[in-house]
Amino acid sequence: MLFIIIVGCGRLGSYLANSLSYEGHSVVVIDKNSDAFDALSVEFSGFRVEGDATEFSVLKQAKTAEADMFIATTRKDNINLMVAQIAKRFFNIKNVMARVFEPAREKLYKELDIDIICPITIAGRMFLELIWQAQNQTEDEK
Ligand code: AMP
Repeated sequence: MLFIIIVGCGRLGSYLANSLSYEGHSVVVIDKNSDAFDALSVEFSGFRVEGDATEFSVLKQAKTAEADMFIATTRKDNINLMVAQIAKRFFNIKNVMARVFEPAREKLYKELDIDIICPITIAGRMFLELIWQAQNQTEDEK
């Protein structure tokens, strides 16, 4: 069982929180908007921390120092980069991951030893795979 902190309880953050809690991990979700916690399922057995994750006091309240894993999922690359760096540098968390929309920033995060999920790059790759499959089928049928 891992102790996992998730920043942002939007569509992605709540999906991860619900799934990881269901798998038996200990999860803390941080969101500055308490309404966002409505997206957590009734089975969610973790903790909710209301506050701005860029504030040190909020990260301390979430017991960040004890976390095995830290995942930044907000819509803002700058917020994700900031909190991920704090988690890495100040709290020495080994596994730090962040959602990054801007593909050009992927390299920077990697240099900071932060694992990146870039939805644009992933969607692009998946579209290309479907296009290649369709292209191969069309060519086979000729
Ligand atoms: P979404 O817009 O569905 O991707 O969700 C993003 C979530 O991240 C929203 O629920 C926001 O309230 C939350 N969020 C954005 N910035 C922060 C922040 N600095 N600290 C905590 N939560 C945040």
